[in-house]
Amino acid sequence: MANCDVLIIGSGPAAWSCALTARQRDLTVIVAAATSATGWLQKAERIDNYPGLPQVSGKDMLRIFRQQAEDMGATILPQLARQIMPAGDEYMTLVGNDIIQSKAIVLAMGAARPKLLPGEEALIGQGVSWCGTCDGMFYRDREVAVLSAWTGGVEEAEFLSGLASRVDYYFMAKHEQPEHVPYTLCEGTPKELIRLEDGRIRLVTSQGEGVYDGVFIFRPAVSPDSLLPGLETEGAFIRVDRRMATNLPRVYAAGDCTGQPLQIAKAVGEGNVAAISAAQDIQGGNKA
Ligand SMILES: Cc1cc2nc3c(=O)[nH]c(=O)nc-3n(C[C@H](O)[C@H](O)[C@H](O)COP(=O)(O)OP(=O)(O)OC[C@H]3O[C@@H](n4cnc5c(N)ncnc54)[C@H](O)[C@@H]3O)c2cc1C
Repeated sequence: MANCDVLIIGSGPAAWSCALTARQRDLTVIVAAATSATGWLQKAERIDNYPGLPQVSGKDMLRIFRQQAEDMGATILPQLARQIMPAGDEYMTLVGNDIIQSKAIVLAMGAARPKLLPGEEALIGQGVSWCGTCDGMFYRDREVAVLSAWTGGVEEAEFLSGLASRVDYYFMAKHEQPEHVPYTLCEGTPKELIRLEDGRIRLVTSQGEGVYDGVFIFRPAVSPDSLLPGLETEGAFIRVDRRMATNLPRVYAAGDCTGQPLQIAKAVGEGNVAAISAAQDIQGGNKA
């Protein structure tokens, strides 16, 4: 069994940012960074909205962040955190087959993975995207489809309508639409995505097919509260206050798992705040 001040669960920008600041505050840090589940950000070919790392790939960004955390003295366990149990004033967490005892926990596990369409995962970054803000610019004056399982797709489709020459909107689950929309509402439930030889994407639906330059897919994330029973959630996301504290003593959350916007800069900022809050509570002797 290993001990630390803060156990950080996750291997994305929120986790690495949290690890850096926690080390600066002289806390001992273990990061449970599952490599098997590691990250969708790895698939981002180019990131243009993170300061200081222009045109960096997701893979390079994660490598740089992780190396910096390691150099600052964070211990990295490349394992999945499987269960967190309260133990008096501390927490015991099963990471792989090890038990880690910690004074605080930071949940930075990103948005949970939903069931994907056949072909979807392989085409992320190659004509298929989950982020209009990130990738919309690549589709200026081109034809795109929006596949959405929730109302979050409406705002994204409106944004894309200002860029693309055509936006077709498909429902992956029933949800409301405004009375007037600048895109076309289409019949048919999305079933499969196939990349064509010319790089365009064929969308197969229950009622036919369409061919697009890009396909944007939007779903609500799923809550990770099964990892830690008693954790309060708000819809699919973990409920936090401005200190990134959850409803449980010395448990904080940061990044995509706390909700929209799902963006790197926001994840990094929240990881920083969570580390400072953990340091204040541990070093100040606060239980909550
Ligand atoms: C293709 C693509 C392109 C994108 N482009 C941009 C962009 O240009 N700009 C931008 O701002 N954002 C972009 N995003 C969004 C951005 O990737 C996320 O907002 C950001 O990565 C969130 O960081 P995070 O640390 O909260 O979570 P994540 O990056 O999702 O990291 C969480 C990690 O924790 C690990 N994990 C989960 N559960 C456990 C567990 N129980 N134990 C151990 N580890 C666990 C997962 O494997 C995952 O790797 C893009 C996303 C994708 C998919």
